Amino acid sequence: MIGSIINGKELTSKNKMAIHNPYTGEKIDDIALASKQEMDDAVKDAYQCFHETMKIMPAHERADILRETANLLEERTEEFAETVVKEAGKPISASRGEVQRGVQVLRFASEKAKDITGEVIPMDAAVGGNGRMGFAKRDPLGVVAAITPFNFPLNLSLHKIAPAIAAGNTVIFKPAEKTPISAYKLTKLFHEAGLPASALNLVMGTGEEVGDPLVKHDQIHKVSFTGSLPVGRAIKESAGFKKVTLELGSNSPNIIFADANIEEAVKSLVTGAFAFSGQVCISAQRIYVQKEVYDQFLEQYVSLTESLKVGDPADEGTDVGPMINEGEAERAKQWIDDAVEKGAKIAAGGERKGTLLMPTIMTDVDENMKVIAEEVFAPIVSIIPFETEEEAVKFSNNSIYGLQAGVFTIDIHRAFRVAEKLEMGGVWINEISTYRQDNIPYGGVKQSGFGREGVKYAIEDMTELKFIGLKLEQ
Ligand code: NAD
Repeated sequence: MIGSIINGKELTSKNKMAIHNPYTGEKIDDIALASKQEMDDAVKDAYQCFHETMKIMPAHERADILRETANLLEERTEEFAETVVKEAGKPISASRGEVQRGVQVLRFASEKAKDITGEVIPMDAAVGGNGRMGFAKRDPLGVVAAITPFNFPLNLSLHKIAPAIAAGNTVIFKPAEKTPISAYKLTKLFHEAGLPASALNLVMGTGEEVGDPLVKHDQIHKVSFTGSLPVGRAIKESAGFKKVTLELGSNSPNIIFADANIEEAVKSLVTGAFAFSGQVCISAQRIYVQKEVYDQFLEQYVSLTESLKVGDPADEGTDVGPMINEGEAERAKQWIDDAVEKGAKIAAGGERKGTLLMPTIMTDVDENMKVIAEEVFAPIVSIIPFETEEEAVKFSNNSIYGLQAGVFTIDIHRAFRVAEKLEMGGVWINEISTYRQDNIPYGGVKQSGFGREGVKYAIEDMTELKFIGLKLEQ
């Protein structure tokens, strides 16, 4: 049994939840669920630690702790990757990739901790301002609530914790209840690297019992949330006066113009749609292909998809593993059946066996089907023909979401024209929507959320400008 960690001490509880391996169904461990009182204690403890320790800790010490955490994580890559395989069902090669990205995030944060700068304000720019000096510096906020999803249990948690610590905040870490073991190990790693225990308190429990009261707690200064749209909406309403960052879902479009390198686009988009069984917020869900190359693209896409190895995520050669649980796999299967009933066709896949959903390609879809209109979050992709540039942009923007998109063409003028017109937080040219680098500003528009991650940008959101002015003696 593992439990929440407050001030370095692990809590036990009679109220527990079993964690299962999504592929084998075997029980991995139990987690002791925190009570509301324990969550409250965790926040008070982190609040005190902020005022007594973190707020005054020199930047070079915060940088050292983050660098040491990165080194420890790198040394234990295999142990952490195996944990992600077991609790999330992510294929081992992708799990290793996630650990490596986590190491990078920690290193970016360590470097940035020593470079949080402000500015000198030209006071004489205002009439009557002569004889004064003004400084704007970045101060930490206080206690940051980091609420995370199951699909990147390490890296998305680090995208919140690392910048928060770099800036001198303390953190209450509320991980997804489906993937608490990586969160538990990660918390211990920070403490081992020298982070004051109360600067990172781990609180485990459900969204309803722990997450919601945490968001409402008046000693929390900022809520940084990654997860689904309905939960994001509820958090925004509950958070009141606090700063909020919402990293939510999407149904990412990718546009393939006839002049693109079709073979390359097919190869990268098969990965972009089916990596981690499509349970990626920027997974390629809608692929719009110009009519002249549609048949060629579809044929190659189906053939490559059918060669993917589906099965045990612990096997080195597995491309597509299970979905997070059977309920989610069945939900996705129903969306496929619903689309077929409305006239869509299945070009590959479509079957489910337990938590495994075969990589599925749909054609003849329309915008009223859930597989197009909503976030599918499963190994399902739709391939749709278009004729003109205007049409491709219109189809792509016809969504409540706007996170990332991909545009494939060798015409640089068209590429930038389309990128400007797409209502997205980010647009890639000749790269898939699913590609994310950990130092780019990352986040959505429309109902994909607001605020940006990518260490430097998260630090901006996790600090506040403080002005200090001086009137010079004349
Ligand atoms: P989820 O929204 O079900 O849960 C996310 C977290 O919110 C969990 O820790 C959960 O316990 C907590 N939670 C639930 N109800 C809450 C409440 N009322 N108050 C506070 N916290 C609450 O998401 P999930 O199923 O774990 O993850 C999948 C979703 O995450 C998808 O929609 C995906 O697109 C999104 N996601 C977005 C990004 C991004 O960067 N934009 C990245 C990864 C995943």
